[in-house]
Amino acid sequence: MTRPLPLSAVPQASEEETGESLAILTIDLAAIAANYRRLRELSAPAECAAVVKADAYGLGMAQVAPALARAGCKTFFVATLGEAKELRALLPTATIYVFSGLIAGSAAAYREHGLRPVLNSADEIAEWAAASASGGRPLPAAIHIDSGMNRLGLSAAEVERMATAKDLFAAFELALVMSHLACADEPEHPKSEAQRQTFETLRRKLPKALASLANSAGILLGSAFHYDLVRPGIALYGGKARRRGETGVSPVLTLSARILQVRHVPAGETVGYGATWTLKRRSRIAVLAVGYADGLFRSLSVDDGKKGLHVYIGGHAVPILGRVSMDLITVDVTDVPESLARRGAFVELIGENVAAHVLASHAGTIDYEVLTNLGTRATRRYIGG
Ligand SMILES: *Cc1c(COP(=O)(O)O)cnc(C)c1O
Repeated sequence: MTRPLPLSAVPQASEEETGESLAILTIDLAAIAANYRRLRELSAPAECAAVVKADAYGLGMAQVAPALARAGCKTFFVATLGEAKELRALLPTATIYVFSGLIAGSAAAYREHGLRPVLNSADEIAEWAAASASGGRPLPAAIHIDSGMNRLGLSAAEVERMATAKDLFAAFELALVMSHLACADEPEHPKSEAQRQTFETLRRKLPKALASLANSAGILLGSAFHYDLVRPGIALYGGKARRRGETGVSPVLTLSARILQVRHVPAGETVGYGATWTLKRRSRIAVLAVGYADGLFRSLSVDDGKKGLHVYIGGHAVPILGRVSMDLITVDVTDVPESLARRGAFVELIGENVAAHVLASHAGTIDYEVLTNLGTRATRRYIGG
């Protein structure tokens, strides 16, 4: 159980900043930059890239990517061509790779915006080579080798076949060969080393290029996994890259929401949809202006007598009761002084006291999914820019 921090340690928005806001998402760009520098240090001499797919894991690519570039990041990865075009507009000179690779017919868009596909199959390689040939110059791209995850990338058999395709490799610039780890979040899992060895064998069958294997958790597996370039995502955003132990990165985000109403409810009454929570005592219930539409998963609902997530009011832990609604949740503030648990006050849902991965585990998910579901309704404040 995390111990509550003094209220002064929790970033508090001033009155004029909060204005009419009901929920506030604060994103600390200086903390993201510091996490980037920390991961770069851990990975040196490998280059440290940044994965900013899915709107920088929901935190806002338009703010996050320039902050990372200012911290010295030169290479970025996104998932889709659409994300890459947006990123190109923000960072005219960055190297940008797109994990999803080439959809038939999209080579021209890559060329026009100076983007690099991560080629996932022999067909994609052939298309990129053809696009290079028709453009009259070898265009850079990465190749993804599947080292055992059976998701994206060339299979071992496909790598063998490609190994003899000298003409194709002469037509474009193979800038990077990469693969992706399935179990890096479990440091003792034998699959990571098995994948590393498969990657090692297969990449040698292709023309010489820079190599990349590690995501955030892969960085923590040690230098054998770093190769020439590492690709952290979640650790930049303060997430828990590995299941156990410290990762040495700082939290970057706070989600807080206002109390709309405090009500006194007699024992025996129920709270919320489904009447799933019956009060055992006369209680004070605070109704907060945040719900599953803001990324507080409905699976955070707490049925009668069960223990659920605690959120924080001025250093006091208060339990969520009953169902999470679209726009509202209810918490038990009976034991919190009325001067703190009052209409208009803010309650911390994610922050110094409640890590995103703790909220995630109560919802039966991981912090990656919590971050990417934060939504657009909360007022966003960027600090440390
Ligand atoms: C998303 C992604 C990453 C980043 O992973 P994290 O676990 O967030 O560090 C790296 N490589 C690939 C291929 C990815 O899809």
